[in-house]
Amino acid sequence: MSNREWLERSLGAVWHPCTQMKWHETLPLLPVERAQGVWLYDFEGRRYLDGVSSWWVNLFGHGHPDIVAALHDQLQRLEHVMLAGFTHEAVVRLSERLSRATGGVLGHCFYGSDGASATEMALKMSAHYWRNRGRPHKSEFLALAGSYHGETLGALGVTDVPLFRDAYAPLIRRARVLPSPDERLGPQAAADSLAALERHLSTHDSVAALILEPLVQAAAGMVFYDPAFLREAHRICSRYDVHLIADEIAVGFGRTGSFFAHEQAGITPDFLCLSKGITGGFLPLSVVMTRDDIYGAFYDDDIARGFLHSHSYTGNALACRAALAVLDLFERDDVIAANRSRQPRLEALAAPLKADGRVRNFRHRGMIWAFEVAASGGDFSRRFHKAALARGVLLRPIGSTVYFMPPYVISDGEFQFMVEVAMQALDEATGP
Ligand SMILES: *Cc1c(COP(=O)(O)O)cnc(C)c1O
Repeated sequence: MSNREWLERSLGAVWHPCTQMKWHETLPLLPVERAQGVWLYDFEGRRYLDGVSSWWVNLFGHGHPDIVAALHDQLQRLEHVMLAGFTHEAVVRLSERLSRATGGVLGHCFYGSDGASATEMALKMSAHYWRNRGRPHKSEFLALAGSYHGETLGALGVTDVPLFRDAYAPLIRRARVLPSPDERLGPQAAADSLAALERHLSTHDSVAALILEPLVQAAAGMVFYDPAFLREAHRICSRYDVHLIADEIAVGFGRTGSFFAHEQAGITPDFLCLSKGITGGFLPLSVVMTRDDIYGAFYDDDIARGFLHSHSYTGNALACRAALAVLDLFERDDVIAANRSRQPRLEALAAPLKADGRVRNFRHRGMIWAFEVAASGGDFSRRFHKAALARGVLLRPIGSTVYFMPPYVISDGEFQFMVEVAMQALDEATGP
């Protein structure tokens, strides 16, 4: 079957995510037949470099043989068993290893399948913790301007993206939003945000938690902020008995240059949400990690004090096994150090973009590169996407922000190709 047939059948039967479906009258869907490494292949033999890691989930390329082999092995033993009343090797090993990655501070892991469910679980756990501790009035949440924590109703309450939220406003209990610490706004922005946090907490004892994305607000358009902001926010929250929920769904697993982004602030959050890269982009899995004393507040003879939340696929054995294979790769190849040592080379390859007159705020942290495009116009994002795709690279700007978030296995040559195509797509998307 050809690309054309698959895309027509898809439009006839599939409702695609994050899309105004009418766009596809002019911007064709891309049917993918197979994928290997950083490349996606369509049904007509063309290939596309996956410059956004298939929405930030892929770390080691598509079809990585070690993850495939681990899944083959797991399939011979156990595909899934319910996790209430049962346990299995993969979920135990994964929980132990994730806990070790936090220095043992976050001792217990609770699993879900998607990022948004991790957000929901962390919010519920935080409020329920305060209730179990005799402080049920602590049920308010704080979030940062531009925050993105997923799109279920509870997660939308702490998500500050009007386009995703406004249609559902009557259904949502909105969090209080603090000013953005965006480094493009200068150092005063972070100070103002911290002052607003302190002001609110010193006059309200109803706050359960502050939720934030450590160091990079990805969905807001790769907004970077200084680790010192995170360190201070953590200090203020601790002083006022307020939890810090770190949503590392996008930035965990080495994306910002350390294994977890919060490490760069020298802190450990009370709750850590992980998903996306956790299985290397193979299977849906999310987890909320927390401290043993928080876990302990739910441990009781009374069933109602327990955390009764559940999803059918909680702790799925295949997904956990893929995650273990990912952790093996991090250890075996010392991925964090390897990525760090590549930085000067990749920086040199990206230099032509940085020097381009149309490019603003060129920035880079770990394995994320981003910049804004001056005078980009309303439909810039789609025009750029289309122009890059026609030249063999998948890039998907957020508004006027172009970003690269490639799988870590991208070669220097492939990185250079991505930069060259981005330059050509800029010409086309900003041209007449
Ligand atoms: C993607 C994302 C989510 C939501 O994860 P889903 O798996 O899409 O539900 C939540 N928080 C952040 C920071 C994300 O990037």
